Amino acid sequence: MRLLLFAFITLFSFFSIHAQHQPWQGKFEPIDNLISPPNIYRTASGAPGKVYWQQRADYKIKVTLNEIDNTMSGEETITYFNNSPDDLSYVWLQLEQNVNKKGNEDFGSVNNSMKDSMTTRQIQFLTRTIDFPAGYSIKHVKDTNEYNLKTMVNNTMMKVKLNTILKSGSSTTLSIAWSYPITDRSLFLLSREGYEYFPEDDNTVYLIAHWFPRMAVYNDTEGWQNQQFQKLGEFALEFGDYDVEITVPEDHIVASTGELQNSETVLTKTQRKRMDAARKSFDKPVMIITKAEAEANEKQKSTKQKTWKFKAKNVRDFAFASSRKFMWDAQAVKLPTNTVMAMSLYPKEGLPVWQEESTKSIMHALEVYSEATFDYPYPVCISVNTSNIGMEFPMISFNGGRPINGKISHAAKQGMIGTIIHEVGHNWFPMIVSSDERKWMWMDEGLNTFLHQRTVAERYPEFNSVTPKSIVPFMSGDKNILRPVMTTSDNELFNQFGANFYIKPTVGLQMLRNSIIGKELFDEAFKEYANRWKYKHPNPADLFRTLEDATATDLDWFYRGWFFTTDHVDMELTNVKWFKVFEENSNIEDQNKSSKRKIVANQKNVESQEKDFSNGPEVITMTSTPDAAYGQFLSRLDESEIRKQLSGKNIYEVTIKNIGGLVMPVTIAWVFADGSTEIDTLPAEIWRRNEYEIQQTFIKDKEVSKVNLDPNFEFADTDMKNNSFPKIESKSEFDKFKDSNR
Ligand SMILES: [Zn+2]
Repeated sequence: MRLLLFAFITLFSFFSIHAQHQPWQGKFEPIDNLISPPNIYRTASGAPGKVYWQQRADYKIKVTLNEIDNTMSGEETITYFNNSPDDLSYVWLQLEQNVNKKGNEDFGSVNNSMKDSMTTRQIQFLTRTIDFPAGYSIKHVKDTNEYNLKTMVNNTMMKVKLNTILKSGSSTTLSIAWSYPITDRSLFLLSREGYEYFPEDDNTVYLIAHWFPRMAVYNDTEGWQNQQFQKLGEFALEFGDYDVEITVPEDHIVASTGELQNSETVLTKTQRKRMDAARKSFDKPVMIITKAEAEANEKQKSTKQKTWKFKAKNVRDFAFASSRKFMWDAQAVKLPTNTVMAMSLYPKEGLPVWQEESTKSIMHALEVYSEATFDYPYPVCISVNTSNIGMEFPMISFNGGRPINGKISHAAKQGMIGTIIHEVGHNWFPMIVSSDERKWMWMDEGLNTFLHQRTVAERYPEFNSVTPKSIVPFMSGDKNILRPVMTTSDNELFNQFGANFYIKPTVGLQMLRNSIIGKELFDEAFKEYANRWKYKHPNPADLFRTLEDATATDLDWFYRGWFFTTDHVDMELTNVKWFKVFEENSNIEDQNKSSKRKIVANQKNVESQEKDFSNGPEVITMTSTPDAAYGQFLSRLDESEIRKQLSGKNIYEVTIKNIGGLVMPVTIAWVFADGSTEIDTLPAEIWRRNEYEIQQTFIKDKEVSKVNLDPNFEFADTDMKNNSFPKIESKSEFDKFKDSNR
């Protein structure tokens, strides 16, 4: 019985689909069922609720970098504040260094297939032929009373069982002693940190990050965010104050998160004097360590040690770089509420472009991002040169881009400056607006790339920057491989996370700003989101809601299509019909002359499809409205006025098909016979009445010779060939056949 009924329904719906075109897909329905519901912690407006809470972790760390055996060893005391409403019997800490431990190879693996020919490095990534003893040795974990705590390590996560329950509203301290071998960055793919060895002068640049056991996030949406570190998904971290003492070889220079506390001990008198000058230099950097001085340092190889002391307030992480190779320049950047020291450190291998461009790039990023969100709040902002990759931490970033024999191509220079702007920009997303990177890569990468591209477009107009066109190749790709933006970080493919998590959200935000909401309103809303969630942990729903809340714009259709599907934009300008009104009182002879063809309205062929406008307009008759049509109205329209207004006008009925599936506003460019142009824009809501095909009628004084959809390429239309009328001649079937068999 059930089976029979099912068969009947299937049959019925099959016919009904054909009867009424295609099924309604609810593209404008609210996305409430796709995002987490609001609650007392996260309001329906997208703001943190009155009882929003988050944990806090303060760190006191003493660490020694041993240059002889490339190891780090340290001791830390974490003061952990349980601001949650829950009592906790255990806590989770992150041990990212374990990701490269033997046995954890599958985490972070990218491509495990063999090829006919492979480089030794590719084979190394695949097989770990050269073994590397990665991972932490945890010497002890103790509580406030110096009692050992029981720990259990699961790959990159360590569970610490507390001896007493950590009550809601109270704090506890953990003391941890640990060490690990610093990773050789060239050995592993996606190494965000580690050391780079320079054989020529037998020196090393150390980039030290996720180097100490850090508290995992515990929050209202995840509980413990203890998803394993698998390399693609980055970090979820709590805010806190840091007090860090870093012991390194005496002749090393350390660049770090935080403010240097003992410059008298670690810097020379000359360096301090230059730093004082840099604090007053707002137009160009001052060299703190020159090339000649760095080269002299390279030759020292001191076996003595020196301790650098730093303090950082309200940061979610702490990283540093150390080397005797560093040159160092610095300048002050004045923001409305803060003066920041922008500084760059680089080995001579970064010359000359690093000295010319790095600190300037920091300044541009600080200015544009501060204006778009809130002033950069920290005292320093540092860019350190690396061999490759760009990686961000609070107040410091490691940025690739190195000339070859002192020369750098224009493209490589663009890449380097773009990287510095991008990584400095991460100070806002996610270092301060602290979304969960391990879960949603697009939230920090997308928002950051959006502002990074804006910085490039505004400050380096001669460079290439992302526009909606940039996402077309990705969005017109194979739908079986594509994943929506709302895919969790580690579930995206290695070769498409850049397009999907960086570029697609960037283009989405550009479309909202430039074409859907409008610059002024969008900028206000974006600023609102940044300010609502600074030093907090926002979720996608908080962003989605805030942008609607602050603009009075229903964007659920946009979020649904752009973030939750892999649909693309492809509008087809199916037909443009040209009409003129038959005027009873005018000379019919004249009318016949002006229009090459006259079709009586009730006989007109509704299916007629013209190739261009050469056959002239169809002429429709406009009859008087019968009294009965007015119903209860006693007044009558001024018919002569209506006739007068339409006299001689050109009426165009435009038919547009939505081929790609994404609903979007429709921009129509009219090119008139006299060469002038005009643009009409229809809101996305036009697709409410029919998600597949719409018709819209326009009245124009002048005759139109050409119509184009999306003339300024605002909406990433993947196929521009079907955007014009008269239609652009498409390839013959034979040409297509030839192309496909190439
Ligand atoms: Zn990034």
